[in-house]
Amino acid sequence: MKEIPIAKPSLGRAEAQAAADTVLSGWVTQGPRVKAFEDAFASAVGSQHACAVSSCTVALHLALLAVGVKPGDVVITVSHSFIATANAVRHCGAEPVFVDIDADTLNMDPAALERCLREDFDDKGRVAAILVVHQVGMPANLEPILRLASERSIPVVEDAACAIGAEFRGERIGKPHGDIACFSFHPRKVITTGDGGMLTTNDAALDAKFRLLRHHGMDVSDYARHSSDDVIFERYAVTGFNYRMTDIQAAVGLEQLKRLPELIKERRELARMYAEALASTGVQIPREPEYARSNWQSYIVRLAPGQDQRRTMQALKARGIHTRRGIMCAHLETPYAAAWPKGCLPRSEEAQERGLTLPLYPGMERADVARVVEALRAAA
Ligand SMILES: *Cc1c(COP(=O)(O)O)cnc(C)c1O
Repeated sequence: MKEIPIAKPSLGRAEAQAAADTVLSGWVTQGPRVKAFEDAFASAVGSQHACAVSSCTVALHLALLAVGVKPGDVVITVSHSFIATANAVRHCGAEPVFVDIDADTLNMDPAALERCLREDFDDKGRVAAILVVHQVGMPANLEPILRLASERSIPVVEDAACAIGAEFRGERIGKPHGDIACFSFHPRKVITTGDGGMLTTNDAALDAKFRLLRHHGMDVSDYARHSSDDVIFERYAVTGFNYRMTDIQAAVGLEQLKRLPELIKERRELARMYAEALASTGVQIPREPEYARSNWQSYIVRLAPGQDQRRTMQALKARGIHTRRGIMCAHLETPYAAAWPKGCLPRSEEAQERGLTLPLYPGMERADVARVVEALRAAA
């Protein structure tokens, strides 16, 4: 019996050759290929700037620092996300304040955000940013969120880890709609560089901050110094980090980016097949709201009430089908649980308890989709 994995990166000869060529080129970390990948990425999403880093987690860290998040501040975000979202706030010495999600899109509920912004934060700290997630590639309802933020002059960072190629009202996520968008190239995402991340912005001053911070606070890049006819003495303006992407990763990323349209097309076709086949199974399928087009980085269904999550997953596993729960809530994990008792974010918690991520990856066949749906039907 053929195993059906939960996900599979789409990597081939072209990526392997690009990595090999880079190894043999003599320039292996943040250099000409990182620059080329940044330029190609910016034009793919329609942003003025793109800055490559070693992961989305560090991209979120730099984005929050760049908009001024500092120790003692609070950042409003969702708990119902990969835990890196909340952790990035803590990396700045700030504290996340979680708001509940919209049950259909699994994204920040603008009404919950509005209620939260009306609260008195004097004892907790200044609201320094809103960190909005486009969960599993489904764009959040940005219009009301951006309006609430701009009325109060609060910067907005988009956690677009999964959202490359997704669209909000016909515009690519990452344009960006907020101040900064952050992407991931982990193998579970739509394109991969092994690990890696990208920050996009239309603000040159923010982009300059990312570049300084990712490279130890050094005021000139290694490549610029190397390429200059004049001797350049570098200076270290701030306490920075080593968050560099390597040229080997960027070379792979350039090849992946060329295939982005075809990869998304295939994901959308698989999602369409699932929606059709799952219609009569009792599970609730994900739907795009009128403002959004998903890239279907993951396909999360909601089990019927009373359908046991663990038992369903075990039954599918026995048939060689690998699933995951949906998204986990950060506030139910040890680092956050003390301040956020169970029950405080009911829609987030319900989504965790009833969510089921089905296999979806380029190269998955129609027969595989049918097998997953049949197994789900048998388990119910
Ligand atoms: C994957 C993911 C991250 C972390 O990305 P890395 O590149 O692995 O650091 C952050 N936020 C969300 C929503 C994610 O899905």
